[in-house]
Amino acid sequence: MERNLADSADRADYLVELSNIVRDTSFGGPGERSLHRLRLVVEALVRLTGDRDVSVYLVADESLLGGQRHFTDPADGRLLRRWVSTGLVEEVPDADERVLEIAGMTGLQVITGDRYVDHRLEHPWLQGNTWQFLRPEAARRGTVRLLPVDMGVRTAAEISRKMELSALKKQGLLAAGQRPLTEVVTRAWRCPESRCTLYSARSGGRVLLPRMRRGVPTCELHGAPLLDEGVRPGAAQLKAVIDDACVARYTLDEGSQTGVGRNPGPDGIALHTLLSPELAARVSRRHVVVSVKGGSVVVRDTSTYGTRMRSAGKRGELGPWEQLPPESNRPFRPGDEVELAPGLVLTRSGRRFPAELADAWRTEAARTPLPPAAAEATRLI
Ligand SMILES: [Zn+2]
Repeated sequence: MERNLADSADRADYLVELSNIVRDTSFGGPGERSLHRLRLVVEALVRLTGDRDVSVYLVADESLLGGQRHFTDPADGRLLRRWVSTGLVEEVPDADERVLEIAGMTGLQVITGDRYVDHRLEHPWLQGNTWQFLRPEAARRGTVRLLPVDMGVRTAAEISRKMELSALKKQGLLAAGQRPLTEVVTRAWRCPESRCTLYSARSGGRVLLPRMRRGVPTCELHGAPLLDEGVRPGAAQLKAVIDDACVARYTLDEGSQTGVGRNPGPDGIALHTLLSPELAARVSRRHVVVSVKGGSVVVRDTSTYGTRMRSAGKRGELGPWEQLPPESNRPFRPGDEVELAPGLVLTRSGRRFPAELADAWRTEAARTPLPPAAAEATRLI
């Protein structure tokens, strides 16, 4: 299962609120806490995505490890401790807060049974959300399936019940809850401590998303405000999928135009080493061109034999295959599939491109009227 665990949210396809999954006794045996439940969830994800290497980023409450005796199998507690020390689990005082922070910034889908009612004001995008949360449900023969959750719209009264105590704090977070976070996620950050590489994309290792403290991106470890390093590189991620297995991932930069095909030439993505001779014969030298401009990704068919595409709907459900008209640009969004030849598909990874994320937030904010308490709080600031 470890091959499916990402050591950074930046590299993950899904986010898992581990504390919630491990403690969910509605599936995976009677034990109070069990890592077997995570195993079942990962298996369900592999079936759902058709990708054996689908990756998840795990976030857990400190209390999960603190209560090791609650694990039915003591080996689970030891394994979990090892994962924390090797960076495969992010252990935080409040997993809810961290999960929503990452989900809000990246658009990653979250696997959890939680509805986060008390977090709706700082995260208005939760209201009416029908696509970003998946909950596990016991299925046949001890397996699990993942169902999309309609988060519903909670009333101001429902939400404010939990908010009364920390009203002032929440006002600050609300101000930071939408556009400022967009600005944070589209930029690269660096800790002023010269040896700290937690946020540096150049370190080549694990890169954390900044933690917002009082509206300021802050180093998790040193508590210092992070330095702005300019626009974040590596805009969109492309996956090549052959016979339902992801065989390669590529990063596309803002402003780039990338040929993808059997052998598209310099700066292109050459697939020939991944293809069987039969498949290679059906793929053009430069089959499609994928461009990233102004925060959007488009795909253009430049092939001899044509390209098919199917688009993902609002809830992730795939529409019918359509032939791409030659030489014209089509939006290529996360979840969409572009088929170069039977069994050879390009997809975008689950994470949303920051500029698209910003658009989604603007739409979301326009559609979701703020509860009266929140509108009041906004005026006070
Ligand atoms: Zn630092």
